[in-house]
Amino acid sequence: MEPLYQSKITCICCGSTFLTSRVRPSFKRPVRTDSDFCAYFDAVNPDFYVVRVCPYCGFASTENFNQHLNDKQKYAYLEKLGRQWKARNYGGARTLEEAMECYKLALLCAQAVNESDRVIAGLLHHIAWLYRYEEKKDQEDRFLQFALDAYVRVYEGERESLNNARLLYLIGELNRRLGKPREAVRWFSRVIHDKSITDSAMIRASREQWAAIREEFVQKGQELPEEMQSGA
Ligand SMILES: [Zn+2]
Repeated sequence: MEPLYQSKITCICCGSTFLTSRVRPSFKRPVRTDSDFCAYFDAVNPDFYVVRVCPYCGFASTENFNQHLNDKQKYAYLEKLGRQWKARNYGGARTLEEAMECYKLALLCAQAVNESDRVIAGLLHHIAWLYRYEEKKDQEDRFLQFALDAYVRVYEGERESLNNARLLYLIGELNRRLGKPREAVRWFSRVIHDKSITDSAMIRASREQWAAIREEFVQKGQELPEEMQSGA
């Protein structure tokens, strides 16, 4: 069985219908996953097909986008990007390079229509992963930092409603990956100590990274951050 199949999409910007490729569920099992959820696959990477690009108007989006654009947003897209769009079809199999183009288009579209920080953070994080697959560490770190800033904005914007262990964990983990262990510990500690958090997978992951950072501090003979001095 072919891993890819075609799915029909209606563009949320111009209303045209077009075909985009998707990966069959049986091919979606990753062979391994990094600590920030970057996944690796044997045959096809389903993440390459998350972005749908309308071949007619160029609007690129994911399922997480608000599925309705008002006239003002459509106009903003046309003014900033749409007018320069040259017909191009991303509906078939995608190389990593093409997947990168699709994610960057989706990022520009999200910014043009003022999508939520949560959507923008996810796109930035995915772009960082694509650079990780390519082993382009400088670019990966650049986009991890953009993603981190966006996740923090999500946290600050949604603080009231929040019991989002995964978001807190990710903010900690991106800090850790960007060489800011003291900052990372603050976020992991929140997941570990906040009694309202019940997501056991995220609590376990936070404890593991917390312990790994502690071990590093001890090995380097550095003073432990305040959060670590009273034990986990
Ligand atoms: Zn369109």
